Amino acid sequence: MRKTLEKQGYHFVGTHKHSAVKTCLWLWKSIRGEGNCYKGKFYGISAHRCVQMTPSIFCNQRCVHCWRPLEAFNINTGAGAEEVVWDSPGEIAEGCLKEQKRLISGFKGSPKTTREVFAEAERPKHVAISLIGEPTLYPYLKELIQEFHSYGMTTFVVTNGTNPDVVREIEPTQLYLSLNAPDETIYKRVAHADYWPRINESLDELRMKKGKTRTVVRITCMQGLNMLNPAGYAELLKIANPDFIEVKAYMHLGYSRKRLSREAMPAHRQVKEFASEIAEHLAAAASDVKAKADYNYQIVDESEISRVVLIKNLRGLGALRGDETLYS
Ligand code: SF4
Repeated sequence: MRKTLEKQGYHFVGTHKHSAVKTCLWLWKSIRGEGNCYKGKFYGISAHRCVQMTPSIFCNQRCVHCWRPLEAFNINTGAGAEEVVWDSPGEIAEGCLKEQKRLISGFKGSPKTTREVFAEAERPKHVAISLIGEPTLYPYLKELIQEFHSYGMTTFVVTNGTNPDVVREIEPTQLYLSLNAPDETIYKRVAHADYWPRINESLDELRMKKGKTRTVVRITCMQGLNMLNPAGYAELLKIANPDFIEVKAYMHLGYSRKRLSREAMPAHRQVKEFASEIAEHLAAAASDVKAKADYNYQIVDESEISRVVLIKNLRGLGALRGDETLYS
């Protein structure tokens, strides 16, 4: 399975090969001056300065929409399971930065890449800890984030929310929680796992991050599967009270094509409609809260090519989390 992943462009780093780095399509576009990903539009990230990595190729869910081969990274927790030997945060961070440098080296002197852009790409500013698997399974995630920060970089962490204790202790620059169901029944259908109470706990933890780290809830929309019950999503979002909500279309890519049909991928128009419904229900759901200013959500941006809509909490991000130019 490791070989399969390598063929798909995953580059393993560290001694025990549970961490990987991979350059994305948007990095190639950005380094050639041909465009930037929606995270550039929404948050100011330059894709050519972004390292996409994971410290854990393992995952504890088996989501139907996952692009990866699920067999490749199911963590073995059964009796007699082999212990995973984890590399240190220092080794992983250094390995990722070295590998990223090697991966972009082919662009040096390319007619489509200016000298300035190449020099910028050689000094990445941002790490997206979100590539594959579940990062909270890595036992030193907090220290790994600190390690990247010590290089002067900002961090995104994307978690499935199944480890609330880890969510509580980590402080990346921006913390994402993937919420792909409005209730437990749909959750089980989407994730093929049994962690709903823990995900609810993590939503609670997200709210506690106010003033410490930026928070985002991402909803990946699949037609006929989880684009239902916007009021249910609104109730859960009321608990999390995040800074941002990304409502995004499932993309019919990779191994998910074996599990879902193309029809599961909603059009941008449908994503937008669903995002509006969620925002309306959230306004209604939050009408009884005391801190009304904390629940001032509005659709503020969208990216048609990535089929994603951004809902922002207009309460402001607070001095601790920096301003809109945090990542530039
Ligand atoms: S939580 Fe993420 S990595 Fe794990 S199976 Fe689901 S989509 Fe894949």
